[in-house]
Amino acid sequence: MISKKMRPLVENNSAIRVMFEEGKRLAGLYGAENVFDFSLGNPNVPAPAAVNRAIADVLREEDSVAVHGYMSNAGFSDTRTAVADSLNRRFGTNLKEGNIVMISGAAGGLNAVLKAILDPGDEVVTFAPYFLEYRNYVANYEARLLEVPPDTETFQPDADALGTMITEKTRAVLINNPNNPTGVIYPEEAIIRIAEVLREKEQAYGHAIYLISDEPYRELAYEGAQVPFVTRYYADAIVVYSFSKSLSLPGERIGYVAVPDEAEDAESLTQAIVIANRVLGHVNAPSLMQRMLVRCIDEETDLEAYDQNRKLLYESLTEYGFQCIRPEGAFYLFVKSPEADEHQFCQAAKRHRILFVPGSSFSCPGFVRIAYCVSYDTIRNSLPAFKELAEEYRLKM
Ligand code: PLP
Repeated sequence: MISKKMRPLVENNSAIRVMFEEGKRLAGLYGAENVFDFSLGNPNVPAPAAVNRAIADVLREEDSVAVHGYMSNAGFSDTRTAVADSLNRRFGTNLKEGNIVMISGAAGGLNAVLKAILDPGDEVVTFAPYFLEYRNYVANYEARLLEVPPDTETFQPDADALGTMITEKTRAVLINNPNNPTGVIYPEEAIIRIAEVLREKEQAYGHAIYLISDEPYRELAYEGAQVPFVTRYYADAIVVYSFSKSLSLPGERIGYVAVPDEAEDAESLTQAIVIANRVLGHVNAPSLMQRMLVRCIDEETDLEAYDQNRKLLYESLTEYGFQCIRPEGAFYLFVKSPEADEHQFCQAAKRHRILFVPGSSFSCPGFVRIAYCVSYDTIRNSLPAFKELAEEYRLKM
């Protein structure tokens, strides 16, 4: 018998499986090319050629025992140094090897950080809409996730509302920038305001409140939009980064956590993250990927491909009458449902062979998330179906 804690997760998982099965069923009926599946955030752009070359070079040139062996749980020294140096070059920070812990993707990193800082009954605050796994991650440590309601006009974080939700029990505030599911980027002013509120609350309660920035989409920022590096604005900041999207390596499970020296208890916090990562069973981040990163730390994905998708989809959907905030980052469009219950809208879209995810899955009902990390042709071919869907709702009348 499975645990009481796991039961609701297993039941909920079947909802996602239903969507997956539905996609397959529709593909069987109409042909895969006539089903427009925008439900998954799986990069369709291949990893840069240099990444594949570097993996082959590592296997050919480096000592096989060392490449496949255990290393220090925090990661290879040269990989951590390469990450720190790259961040220093880009953001003017002063990070060193000791500030970086290599981890298995953002999911692994978030869990290690939360395990390192949370006691049962503690609270973490985030801004809706948000990646719903946060709820499960926080629950893993018997803590509670509180959410600041969304500003559905701008989807920017409301720092004043955040202030009203912070209590003696708040250990951390968790943000995701650029944001899944809205594609919005929290600009410098927003981070400065959050930092002001947190500093005030740290003073009032006399303990650190960490600002955890979950950044798998950091490099997916269009038209020169800047994603502020939080450690520059707030001392008790922790950055959780992943190469899943930036180098199209989601199956490889590689990323890092950065804890600056300025953070309270930085050294023991870093150590706790390393040990948490170990006792969670990850032990260390995948070795071959760490070796590859030494050679590829500044490689970039094909941003242009996502940008073309973004422009075509945003411009077409808004022309058909759908309402949507113009996304500046990540690869998602967050579209207002033309009817109050967005689940009904998802059903209507499915009749046009379009699949996307209800906003309730991000704690923001009344919207749907469209993941445009698909081929340009999929988007182009889907447009007549979107147009019919808009006409069905008489959006332009
Ligand atoms: N955080 C957010 C906001 C995400 O969207 C995702 C994956 O889609 C993750 C974390 C987990 O990413 P990773 O593959 O790095 O574990």
